[in-house]
Amino acid sequence: MATRKTFIKLGLLSGAGLVMGAGKVEAKKEFAKSGSKNPNKPIVLSTWNFGLKANEAAWDILNKGGRALDAVEAGVMVPEADPTERSVGYGGRPDRDGRVTLDACIMDELSNIGSVAALEFIKHPISVARAVMEKTPHVMLVGDGALQFALSQGFKKENLLVPDSEREWKEWLLKSEYKPIVNIENHDTIGMIALDAAGNLSGACTTSGMAFKMHGRVGDSPIIGAGLYVDNEIGAATATGHGEEVIRIAGCHLVVELMRQGKSPKEACIEAVKRVVRLMEIRKKNLADIQVGFIALDKAGNYGSYCVQGGFNYAVYDKTGNKLIDAESHVPLPKK
Ligand code: ASP
Repeated sequence: MATRKTFIKLGLLSGAGLVMGAGKVEAKKEFAKSGSKNPNKPIVLSTWNFGLKANEAAWDILNKGGRALDAVEAGVMVPEADPTERSVGYGGRPDRDGRVTLDACIMDELSNIGSVAALEFIKHPISVARAVMEKTPHVMLVGDGALQFALSQGFKKENLLVPDSEREWKEWLLKSEYKPIVNIENHDTIGMIALDAAGNLSGACTTSGMAFKMHGRVGDSPIIGAGLYVDNEIGAATATGHGEEVIRIAGCHLVVELMRQGKSPKEACIEAVKRVVRLMEIRKKNLADIQVGFIALDKAGNYGSYCVQGGFNYAVYDKTGNKLIDAESHVPLPKK
């Protein structure tokens, strides 16, 4: 537990950030204005290697003048449907009871939001999240309620547990040790953020969460403000890695607020990662056990990323093409 002293110290630090940020707000407005004269748009960013393929589907929409919201949904549906991607959607690794439970959320340029958590048997949780956003008076449905709603909307009930995931789960049961491995894909999430030709931002985030998690465990990915946040006047951010640590700092909301105070997307991601690291120190936890990575995009199409451990990458598609970028990290990768 943080002592009162450490709490005050953190409070002072963030207070100082706000005061210093005040001067920068004007600068940021100027920057946004000048950036908006010639913004880098359309553009789409997404987490990890599977982001490359996902970006292609998103780009098909963005390049035709389509809406960022449609692009991010179509983009993340690619790994959701792919049984060889074992950390998202169909083919995702199960929880410790052998159940594939999926989490997803979506946010548009008007701050409409929708989310599902611990959803079983539906291949595209992102589309259920969008239906929650568009067709219910609520923003989040979980478990059986989310499934019932999905079925009422015509989504098909399917077995999502593929033989490879079932085999790994049975092997895992022999020792039953819960140990998410940093950068080895026994977790990972696709988070995608995009700016469309009309200058609007949206984001989507979908995952099967940590492999062999407790039944009912929910990470950051379906939580607006933690795994995803979009503010159409400022920018967007999404996260991957140990969801517990991202939730602890309200990660993506923090990244967007730091951009509002004048930080570049990369500076904002660095600051949020520093917050994760600081809280690990305060709580006397081993930093080597966790990974957290953020990607961020501002209203002018500038982007950046930062992560705790080296090894996180992300894909960016803009008019110069689609490329994979290794994110800089707080802890560098050991030299080979
Ligand atoms: N953030 C996801 C979760 O905690 C997992 C990941 O991205 O690695 O469920």
